[in-house]
Amino acid sequence: MQITRRGFLTLTGAVGGGVALSSLGLNLNPTKAYAEELGKMNRIKIAKQVTTICCYCSVGCGLVCSVDKATGKIFNIEGDADHPINEGSLCAKGAGFFDLTEANKHRLTKVLYRKPYGTEWEEKDWDFALSRMARLIKDTRDKGFVKKNAKGELVNRCENIGHYGSSNVDNEECWLISVKSRALGLVYIDHQARV
Ligand code: SF4
Repeated sequence: MQITRRGFLTLTGAVGGGVALSSLGLNLNPTKAYAEELGKMNRIKIAKQVTTICCYCSVGCGLVCSVDKATGKIFNIEGDADHPINEGSLCAKGAGFFDLTEANKHRLTKVLYRKPYGTEWEEKDWDFALSRMARLIKDTRDKGFVKKNAKGELVNRCENIGHYGSSNVDNEECWLISVKSRALGLVYIDHQARV
């Protein structure tokens, strides 16, 4: 399809009025993404800027949160260019921070449970989840607890449970999980960040 400059300007001007250029076979996705990015940049300029520190590791990168003054909600999180440690850069975990806010509609907010050999997820409450986890941990630990090793030395360890930390576990949670795991006698403790 051929289109004149005047026709193109008329059409692009009409986009705001709801005329779909895509009906002419033009891919508007990059244009829309650019327009959204420009809109976001304008919002960032007038937003309240709050600085904070990434909680995920001991590097301690600086972040800037943009807060919409009207709603009080964060709508963007990015690296703090003025921070001496990261100078604006973030690793993949820090860069994904915004997805942990309530703005991410895909976050899991309820306990979902699938019975052994089941195919459907059921919604449960936390009392159910905590009781079930405690029961399974206790039963498994009772079966696999090793009091003494082959040399007769006291080891008090649980060899049939491992703990693998999630990428969304922060410094304080990691500390708590390590203490809890060692108190149970676990020796197979690892974290996603090491992979
Ligand atoms: S952005 Fe990455 S490197 Fe920086 S503190 Fe967070 S987890 Fe650590």
